[in-house]
Amino acid sequence: MKRSSVLTRATLVGVCAVVLPLLLAAYVGWLLTLTSVQQRLDGMAQVVAQHTDATVEEASSALRLIANSPIPPCSPEGLDQMRLLAMNTFSVKTVGYVEEDIFTCGSQGLMGAKAEPWVGHFVAADGVLASLQAVPWLGTAKPMLALQHSAFHVLVDAQQFLEVVVDGRFGVAVGALDGQLLNASNPAVGSLLTLVHTGPLSGMNEGFLYTVVRNGNWLSVAAIPRSDLWAILLETQLLTLSIGLVVAGVLLRRVVRDAGRRLSPLAELESAVRHREFIVHYQPIIELCSGRCIGAEALVRWRRADGSMVRPDLFIPLAEESGLILPITDQVMEAVMRDLGPMLAADRSLHVALNLAANDVCSGRFLPILLGHMQAADVLPCQVWLEATERGFMHLESAKLTIAKARALGFRAAVDDFGTGYSSLQYLQQLPLDALKIDKAFVSSIGLDASMTPLIGHVIEMANTLKLELVAEGVETAQQLDYLRAHHVQFAQGWLFAKALPAEGFKRFCLDERAALLGADEVPAGLPALLPVSG
Ligand code: C2E
Ligand code: CA
Ligand code: CA
Repeated sequence: MKRSSVLTRATLVGVCAVVLPLLLAAYVGWLLTLTSVQQRLDGMAQVVAQHTDATVEEASSALRLIANSPIPPCSPEGLDQMRLLAMNTFSVKTVGYVEEDIFTCGSQGLMGAKAEPWVGHFVAADGVLASLQAVPWLGTAKPMLALQHSAFHVLVDAQQFLEVVVDGRFGVAVGALDGQLLNASNPAVGSLLTLVHTGPLSGMNEGFLYTVVRNGNWLSVAAIPRSDLWAILLETQLLTLSIGLVVAGVLLRRVVRDAGRRLSPLAELESAVRHREFIVHYQPIIELCSGRCIGAEALVRWRRADGSMVRPDLFIPLAEESGLILPITDQVMEAVMRDLGPMLAADRSLHVALNLAANDVCSGRFLPILLGHMQAADVLPCQVWLEATERGFMHLESAKLTIAKARALGFRAAVDDFGTGYSSLQYLQQLPLDALKIDKAFVSSIGLDASMTPLIGHVIEMANTLKLELVAEGVETAQQLDYLRAHHVQFAQGWLFAKALPAEGFKRFCLDERAALLGADEVPAGLPALLPVSG
């Protein structure tokens, strides 16, 4: 995957890793707040409704008791009875008796005051008439709940129904089932009760989150203003958002570590192997006596998804170290036979040189794979040169075995970068080799470095003594070419002839070069058919 794609992906995943946990935390915080507030509202409304019902029931029983008493109401015994009832019944504030619109007597004694009839709101199942906003005829002007049965009544202070509220942000109200208000902890919640008595049991109305509960003859509502809900939400969010931040931090660390891993050179190379991003370029090899192109060295290139090329010396060492060189060699062998197979099959005088990894030189693993591709392409073993550097000869015995086996099959074997290693002579004598490639460091010294020039002369001499063919690498100047020719070096490659070319470029190079040498009419039969018609 491209570096920029990895970075873009990591940035996107990183943003998600931060934003999603925070959004989730905010959402969970909101749900938790809503659930816990709703539960508190439910609880409060339940308690108010139950408390109201129980209190009214208690007051109604007291009222029925006195109404059914045989004792004359305003007699001294009757007055005592009313006084005792008011004292002993917690919910009842006063007891009274009305005769012909005159408040005759009550728990406070004999009265004789004019009794304006109270508006009755409903009659309960036990025949008790309830007046929700009854203003007492004497004493306090604060409206009370009046319960009337025959000529008797009791007054109940509705304030006691609302004593469940301990948190000032919440409000409660209680009233009749038709929405008539009995009492409210604040006027706004009181007016809410009249609005929601027919609607859903909970929800948002008039800027309040509310819950309604019906119990017996009573309806209660508990509510909280939206602004206070936000305040509670913020308290909860502090907790959930800090959890969200921790989760986001952990995820972000993972994303950064993962991106770092993906951006590591090894991970990039692994991905390149998986995506088969390797192609092969071919550097022509020239026979110096005739000037003919007699083959090419296959040089791998890593072509990234964005089209950019990576030089092999930048990734081959890492590939060798990590073992990824093996699948890379496989991809190279396959590509070479696909690219040059038809050309090699058409002209048996051409060859291709493959670079082997040290590992493959020791194990010989590549041989059956290569043979398979060659057979499919009808390429002969004598058309394939195997190049191995001195690193491949570290385990001399196994290297000898592989090279001997390859040569027995018909392949030709060459030592690459000769002269740059540590024990050149030692293995030269022991290994069954066909050719030796003079490293470009020696070739570059020709005509420049007086101390190195004699060295190349010795290398040439040694190769002649050992009856090895010579290929000079990195030939860049006519002076170098003259020197190599004068010293009977058989083959050369270098920028003086051509750089490593894509397959089609190499085929065109061969065609042009042969046309120039032989004259256009005498181009070998197989070649033109292999070249693209245009370009
Ligand atoms: P090498 O086998 O010695 O390949 C020759 C290198 O010299 C190539 O570099 C080639 O492009 C470069 N070269 C050729 N002519 C000239 C010239 O006139 N002047 C200069 N300055 N350089 C020239 P390249 O392609 O970058 O390959 C570098 C090395 O990577 C190769 O050195 C070889 O050791 C390794 N390599 C390339 N392809 C493969 C492969 O398929 N498998 C393995 N295992 N190693 C490979
Ligand atoms: Ca080579
Ligand atoms: Ca070389």
